[in-house]
Amino acid sequence: MQKQKKEIPRIIGKYTSGKKGPLLFVTGGVHGNEPSGVQALERVFAELEKSKPEIVGSIIGVSGNKEALNQNKRFLDEDLNRTWTEENIQQKKMETHEQQEMWEIIEVLKQYPESDFTKRYFLDCHTTSSPSLPYISVRKCMIMMNGRIGFQLISYAVSAIWYTAA
Ligand SMILES: [Zn+2]
Repeated sequence: MQKQKKEIPRIIGKYTSGKKGPLLFVTGGVHGNEPSGVQALERVFAELEKSKPEIVGSIIGVSGNKEALNQNKRFLDEDLNRTWTEENIQQKKMETHEQQEMWEIIEVLKQYPESDFTKRYFLDCHTTSSPSLPYISVRKCMIMMNGRIGFQLISYAVSAIWYTAA
């Protein structure tokens, strides 16, 4: 019998102890051919559910390019990492598959408004195709989340990148 490949959901997991604090919003698989971030998140949430540590704030794990992940392709129409432009967001563009995925992720983020947390952190997990040690790059960023209402998310964006042998 062939092993059925399981569909990757948008929400990989969420965990909180109900105490107010920061939000850690983690994406994996923004590039569909980089499933390691999703697998890492699955393991993290399985462990959190098992050991139930008391934490302050919340953590949520979200799949990036869900359809590309399910098809094991980097992307379908365009690179999801390149769709987060002010123009696309202000004009509410939904022309390409990845623009639709971007709006789905924004809808998830809207369920975790800035006012509910002391700070919001965004961690985006990638893999490299050339051998390297795991590394992270950190920057303070401002993302326009909704041009019409004009609310902005200021957070620290962190990219975690590690090498996966193909
Ligand atoms: Zn990537």
